[in-house]
Amino acid sequence: MPAKIIDGKLIAERIREDVRLAVGKRAAKGLMIPGLATVLVGENPASKLYVSSKHKSCDEVGIRSFSHTLPTDTPENEVISLIRGLNQDPAVHGILVQLPLPAGFDEEKILSAISLEKDVDGIHPINIGRLAQKGREPLFIPCTPAGIMVMLKEAGAKLSGSNAVILGRSNIVGMPISLLLVKANATVTICHSRTADLPGEIRRADIIIAAIGQAEMVKASWVKPGAIVIDVGINRVPDASKKRGYRIVGDVAYDEVEMVAGAISPVPGGVGPMTIAMLLSNTLHAAEIAEQKVK
Ligand code: NDP
Repeated sequence: MPAKIIDGKLIAERIREDVRLAVGKRAAKGLMIPGLATVLVGENPASKLYVSSKHKSCDEVGIRSFSHTLPTDTPENEVISLIRGLNQDPAVHGILVQLPLPAGFDEEKILSAISLEKDVDGIHPINIGRLAQKGREPLFIPCTPAGIMVMLKEAGAKLSGSNAVILGRSNIVGMPISLLLVKANATVTICHSRTADLPGEIRRADIIIAAIGQAEMVKASWVKPGAIVIDVGINRVPDASKKRGYRIVGDVAYDEVEMVAGAISPVPGGVGPMTIAMLLSNTLHAAEIAEQKVK
């Protein structure tokens, strides 16, 4: 029997609608309208596209957004001064520095300049540190991992006591989702490019999170029947039948894994839409935090 499809697009639409209604209620009551500032340094075309879709999504739910685009040769201290200014701006509740930064920028230094209360990407070293500590909670959870947790809940995944295998150990996906699953009492195995027996590790998994950026690498024969599979990967593969000459696939060989898994998220239409929905939700939360502070 084919797996249940975890429809990220549908879940994300619901979250966006909830945010839109909450922002509308705030406006009606004369409360602060949430505001998101983005900081984009350089000319990376994918980053430009991501930032513009974040602004469009803000518009759709009534969140104000402020775009700051800086040339690649901007001195690091100017980027930090901009962030410090945004920290002080009462109309800005969330600050998002689009990653990756161009070569030569000290990412940790720049991200550390964001006020903790405005770190809607959940990527400030202190927020990540809290995620890694027992009994502590970050103010914000990074958007992609936060979206994955919602998807797992929607899929009815029983996390406590489960074996979760995470493919990838990046700062923005693999590592934070591993920490979240540990907090949810899963037994977590983190795999990466030096893992000796990737199929063997995956076969033990009740929950598989694939975030390696390798087109359709995870095969059906690696997947335990009934496992829940979340595919984070976004990969272009050549496809002459498409006008643009390529199609987007995930890290999981969807057509075959769908026949084995209990539930699976598609690409596109899975984790991608959830990432932006969680950013909107985190920005709303940031406005609520700001309000508590002024009370
Ligand atoms: P990174 O390139 O930062 O990290 C990739 C990770 O995968 C690394 O830990 C790397 O191991 C591991 N890896 C790479 N190749 C292999 C392999 N052959 N076998 C096992 N492990 C491997 O990627 P990101 O975490 O930023 O992104 C991962 C994927 O998710 C990409 O396709 C990206 O486009 C997508 N993505 C999607 C998002 C969404 O919203 N849907 C958001 C963010 C990312 P090592 O550490 O040893 O190098």
